[in-house]
Formats: sequence, C-alpha cells, structure tokens
Amino acid sequence: MRKPGGAALILGFILSFCSADLVITRPPKNATVLEDTRLLMHCEAAGNSKPRIKWFHNGDLMSRIGTNYKIRNTGTLRFRQVKVADRGVYRCKVESGKESLFSDPAHLVVEAEVEIIKQTPESGKLILPYNTGVRLTCWAAGIPGPKMQWRKNGVSIIDVEEHGVVIEEKWIAPDSILSSVLHTGNLTETTNFECEAVNQNIGGDSVQSKVFNIIVRQNEDTNKRTSGICLPYNGTRCASVLGTSTVFLNLSQPTPFEDQEKMAADLLDQMFNVETTKTIRERCNGHGEKLICNYVFPPCENYLNPKPVPLCRESCTAVQDLLCYVQWPVIQNSNIHVKLPTCDNTLPSKWELEAEGQPCTDANLFDRDQTEVTSHCYVDQGRWYNGTVNMTKSGKPCQQWSLNYPQKHKRPPDVYEELRDSENYCRNPGAEEEGPWCYIDSNVPGERWEMCDIPACGEEMESPKEELKMSWSTILIITVVGSVGVFVLGFVAIVCYHIVYNKRKVVRYKNTPQDDLEIDIQKLPANMSYHVVEEPIRLNPKLQAFEYPRNDIIYIKDIGQGAFGRVFKAKAPNILKHDEEVYVAVKMLKEDASDDLQADFEREASLMAEFDHPNIVKFLGVCAIGKPMCLLFEFMSKGDLNDYLRICSPEMYMNVRKHHTFQLREGETLSLDLIDQMDISQQIAAGMVYLSEKSYVHRDLATRNCLISDNLTVKISDFGLARSVHRLEYYKGSDNDAIPIRWMPLESILYNKFSVESDVWSYGVILWEIFSFALQPYYGMTHEEVVEYLKDGKNLVCPENTPQQIYDLMLKCWSRKPSHRPKFQMLYNSVSAFHEELLKKRTKDISEV
Ligand code: ADP
Repeated sequence: MRKPGGAALILGFILSFCSADLVITRPPKNATVLEDTRLLMHCEAAGNSKPRIKWFHNGDLMSRIGTNYKIRNTGTLRFRQVKVADRGVYRCKVESGKESLFSDPAHLVVEAEVEIIKQTPESGKLILPYNTGVRLTCWAAGIPGPKMQWRKNGVSIIDVEEHGVVIEEKWIAPDSILSSVLHTGNLTETTNFECEAVNQNIGGDSVQSKVFNIIVRQNEDTNKRTSGICLPYNGTRCASVLGTSTVFLNLSQPTPFEDQEKMAADLLDQMFNVETTKTIRERCNGHGEKLICNYVFPPCENYLNPKPVPLCRESCTAVQDLLCYVQWPVIQNSNIHVKLPTCDNTLPSKWELEAEGQPCTDANLFDRDQTEVTSHCYVDQGRWYNGTVNMTKSGKPCQQWSLNYPQKHKRPPDVYEELRDSENYCRNPGAEEEGPWCYIDSNVPGERWEMCDIPACGEEMESPKEELKMSWSTILIITVVGSVGVFVLGFVAIVCYHIVYNKRKVVRYKNTPQDDLEIDIQKLPANMSYHVVEEPIRLNPKLQAFEYPRNDIIYIKDIGQGAFGRVFKAKAPNILKHDEEVYVAVKMLKEDASDDLQADFEREASLMAEFDHPNIVKFLGVCAIGKPMCLLFEFMSKGDLNDYLRICSPEMYMNVRKHHTFQLREGETLSLDLIDQMDISQQIAAGMVYLSEKSYVHRDLATRNCLISDNLTVKISDFGLARSVHRLEYYKGSDNDAIPIRWMPLESILYNKFSVESDVWSYGVILWEIFSFALQPYYGMTHEEVVEYLKDGKNLVCPENTPQQIYDLMLKCWSRKPSHRPKFQMLYNSVSAFHEELLKKRTKDISEV
C-alpha cells in the first residue's frame, strides 16, 4: 500500500473547501468494538455526479477487498470479523469529477476478551518433593490489558507475606499481554493454585483461569526415592554416552541397575523407532540419546551422601522443543511405563546455579568440538563456527540472538550455549541447518531467517602459502610426471573414443561451465569417467531417450538423503526444450550400491519414465553413461509432504513453524485450512486414479513419499516399491521386502499381497495423516501392537477437526475385505465434490461480506 503524501492530504483539504457541490453526508464515526465482531463504517456523500469512495487506514490506501473486509459499492467499509490489527485511524475520501474531499479521522478501537495464552509448568499438574516450592507463571492477553489474581486452595492471595508467596508482574506488550509469576514457597501438602485473568471490555467482563494442581510427596517417600549409591556405569545401552562415569543407582527399586538399564533401553527404542524423515531423525538421535541416558542414569554428586544430579531445564527444553520435537510427543504419548522428564521449572536452571546452589547436568549437549571451532569458514554444519559475520547471504542484517524481536523464536542463548555472547553473528545452534544462519532483523512479512554467506572450510580458495611450502624438486617431479600422465591419458582416451565411437553412437559431454557462480565443483561426485565412455551400458531402452549429459548439471545444494543415495538440487539447462534452465532434483546412486540396488534404481526410473500426470512427479532425465548413475526429476520446492504438514500443524506453531527450512513468499502463511487439506487429498487421489488405471500398485503410498511445491501442488513420488500388476490381480512381494506396516492392510502385512485395493487402504491412512498434520499413524504402538490392533478389528481414530464425511471415507478405505474398499475414481469423486462444495461456500461468504 502506498501512503498518500502529506501534499495530497493538504490538497484534499483545500479541495474540500473549494468544492461547493461535493459534501460528505454521512462521515465515519469513532467506534470501539470487540474483536471478531462484524463492523460497518459508513461514508456517504452527495455531489453532482455519483461520488467514488476510497478508504485510508492509518494513512494507507486500502484495497477494495482485504482478508476480512470489503468496501461495498455504496462506499461502506464492512468487516466480517474485525481484528486487533485493524484498529487505528480511518478516513474516507470521496471523489467526483475533479473534486475530492476527505472525511475527518475516525478512531477505531478494537478490544479483545481475555485469554491465558501460556502457563508454566504447562501440564498444570505436578509432583513436588516434600517441603520444596515452585514458580508458577501465567501469561494473559486481552485489550484493555488484563489484571491477574491468584488463589491458593480457592482463597485469594491478597496478603502475599502471610502465605509466603511473592508475585511478580510484568507487561510483555504494554496494555495487552501481562505475565504474572508466583513463588509458591515451600509446600508440605498437596495444594491447588489458580491464576485468574480479567479484563473489562466493551462486551462486558471477561474472565479466564488456569489451575495448577501440586501434589506433594510425603517425607518418607522422598527419602526412599532418593536413597541410592554412586557407581561407575557398566551397562551397554548408554555406554557411548556415559562411558564409565559415576552414575546414581536408585536403591528403592529391587534391581536398580537392570531396571534403569531397561528404562533407558525402552526410551531409546521408542525414540529410534519413530518413523520420520532422515533430517529430523539425524537432528534428534545423538542429542536425544545423551539426554535420555543422563536422565535415567543421572550423574552422582557425592559418594558418601549419594544424590542424583537432575537435568538442566535448558537442555531438557532444547531437546523437547527443538531437537526432538517430532519424537518427543510420540514417546510421551506412547504406552510404555517410563516417561520422559517434564522440562519445566521443577528442573533447575543452568544459569541460576549460583543463585540457587542446585547443580544440574546439561547432558553434554553443548560440548564443543574444539577441532570445529573456526572463525573464517565453517566445518561440517558449522555448529561451532564462532566468526563475526552478521549479514545473511542476500545482505540482510541479523537479529540479536538474545532478542525476541522482530522475529519471535525459541533459541535464546540460555537454552543454546553456543549462542552465548553471539550477539547477532551467524550461527547454527544445535546443527539444525546445513550451515550458519540467522534471524533477519526486519519486519517485512515472509522475511524470517536466511543462511549466511560463509564458506565451508576446504571450499575456500586454496592458500597460496601452502603451495610455496613445496620444494622446487617436488614441483619439478610433479610437473614431469603430470605432463607424461596427461599425454598418456589423452592418448588412451583418443584410442577408446575411436573404438567406441565406431561401435555405437555416444553422447558427448561439454565441460561444466566453470564461470557459473552457482557451481560447487567440490560437491559434484568425483567422476573419472566423464570423458571416457565405459563398456557399452545395458540400459533399459526406454531410458536411453532420456539420457542427459551429466556435465551440464549445475549443482546448487544437497536436499536430502534417500534409500539410493544423495539427492541434490541443480539446474539442468535445456532439459525441456521449451525451457532454458529448469531446476531439478538429482537422485544420485551411491558409489557402493549393490547390483540389486542399482537394478531397483534403474527400475524406478523406467517406471517413472512411463508416467505423465500432473500429480505424479515428473521424471526428466537420466545420466546412465559414466558413474554414478543419476536420475533427474522435476524439483518440488517445498520438499516432502510429511514435513510440510508437520510444519503447518497448529500444535507445532510455537516449535517449528518459525524455523521452517524454506523461505515464505510475501503473503504466504504456513497454515492449512480445510479447503487446503481437501485440495491435497484430491490431488493425491487424482494421481492414484491415473496409476491404478495403468495397473500400477505403488505399495508405499504415504505423505513422506509425496512432494509439494508452490501453490500447494502435490505429486506422488518414490516408486522404489511400485510394481505392475498388469496380468496379475495382485503383486506377491518377497518375504524379505520391507513393509510400511502402518500404511498397510492385514493381507499385505500377513500374506505379502499388494493390489490396487491395498493402495486404497494406504490412501485412507494418507487422509488420516493430512487431517492429523502428519502424526505417526498408531503412534505409541509397536509394529506388533499395530498388527494386533488391526486383527481386533480396530481402526485409527478420527483426527481432531476432521469432517465426519472424510472420516467415513477413511473407514471405507479400511474395509477388511479388499473388494469392499472404494475404487480410486470413487474416492476422487467424493473428495472433489466436497472440495468443490467448500470452495463454493467460501466464494459465497466472501461475496456476502
Ligand atoms: P529415495 O527414493 O532415494 O529414498 P527420496 O525420494 O526419499 O529418495 O528423497 C529423499 C529426500 O529428497 C526427500 O525426502 C525430499 O526431501 C528430497 N527430494 C526427493 N525428490 C525431490 C524432488 N523432486 N524435489 C524436491 N525434493 C526432493
């Protein structure tokens, strides 16, 4: 929006005096309203000809239709649900012929009912040792700003001295968000505390409260619980983390060591078993293992008076919220008897040590690898880069890590030690990204974080000093040997070339263009056979037409690791005739691939080469001449659908959305509504109609195997397991085939029968994933338990906020008899009809506004 210049406003006033005919008969008035209510602001005028009306909000010209408002033809500004962001000064401008006139400013105040937006400890129910206290905090938001009142066992805490509690209040956002902290004092019996927030708004009084139920363990219990001994760890499950360090064994258990070892094993198994993408798994596993081992086998403080050293709150929070945010809730909701720690202020803080004198262990999460501490370049993922670059690669300034403004985040320096004293320098806390990055110090929507332009060590220019260190004799030897080598190689290459050229037509490669800045030669596979044609390849003839010169591929960056090897983003000039430079995803077969894997890889390519559908990822080319074999697919900018759904999950809002791995476009939000969910479901159904009509069974239909790009375009990918069932009714897999149990019906799990109908079952599970924002199906159950669950005739339960008719479709897909399951065409029809209905309803709602 452009602001009207001051001159334009002055001119407006002048014109208003000069214009005798044009008058505003009904100007906008000041108003105070409650958020989410409907609101009309009028502006009527009389003049010689019908006046045109424009509106300005805080000086900005408003477009005719906004996300929650519309300017009617009559000039009335109508809000469907007014929001706090809409408050401010409004003016209308009426124009008739050459005359124009501004109204007086009308002030709109939008008030909001009170809401407790956060509380710590989050669970509201906590168990404390005898005679200890805890800090309780409530954050309340509302306009006008709320007041907070605390109660202990139902009685208002007025006299804080008498109850031994202290309250601290702080405005987080002046007049709208208040935080209130209460120190309970030492408690000797179970007690309820309650925070109650109140505000008086235009709609009347609004109140909301939260209760903390604090159970106090009695004294004897406490003694028993902490009686133990200090011994060196001599188990296996935590050996890599703990070595033989001294740990606390809890003597209140019958067989302390075995019990604790089993507890660690159960938690670790759960964590490693969560099905998720490789990036998420790698981010979590090492850190999660350290935390779990230090939690179950705490360090022991004192041989004579053994005491376990608890985890530090910050380490616990870092693993729960940032490093293992996917695995954590799955373990926590599973039905194993052991639970992960509660990462709230019942755990001591690492930074309040001196004040409170209670030691804690940070589980060595932040142990610095001294060989990786660098300042001009970064090693590995740059976790220990400690240089002072403080600009992103597109030149945007970095935000201070200790500030939560303009970007709100959960990576404060007290959680991540590597961010201490890091000012606003690029860092990669927890090695969550591929290299150092930072939050952008800017209010522009969609600009949140970006990688920094710091070279990886070894990829910077080679130091000339190193070269000078070589003796002249070495240089001479290298030169002579090098020249002879080049001559011999050249000769051999020419001979080979002629031999092979006569045998068959060969694709000849151009040199990789060296002047393109985006090439990262270091990351291209070392390939001695670029210019030498190897023994004639026995490539599937279908694929030969897709051969693409590997030297034309322009590497951009790594994007993932698949079953076959690395996947990277690249440019492939002229791969499509009509398009000069196309982004592609290159799947590169790993060097040590077995013959079987190579055959599977080639088979996936031959299969994909046959498909041509907007909801199936497009196969664009193959580099089969030379090694390693590479497959080129259209690039899907938002990666796999499973990750995307998780990022868009309403629950993950606080944890992940702020740290998504791709940049948002202007106006783009990371949330999905029902219409989007139906859109995604419809696209996958369309792809499956196509595949099933061609008699292909995918066998691994799951959101992790779908890819998403801009405008929510979804495509099915990963045909590694797909088989043709042309002449057979179903495909009988080998007993060694890995089966994605949670996506499969019983006949596939038990008898290896795969058919279009088993794909329909998986489609039902995909719907469930879409509506649960990619929770793990049957989370908390082991594979064996899933099979038992299915055998008992039970199904996945309906995810929250899923329309009944969609859940009914899922249930149909999960009919035990394959022949009772719907056909993909029918699923597509039902999903499209519902999608259509929702779209119509939305269009109607908008036009009514
Ligand atoms: P594989 O088939 O070898 O198991 P995947 O297809 O699972 O490999 O790819 C691994 C990762 O690479 C995916 O999770 C996804 O993030 C990324 N990827 C794969 N293909 C594409 C593509 N066409 N566009 C963008 N990203 C892709």
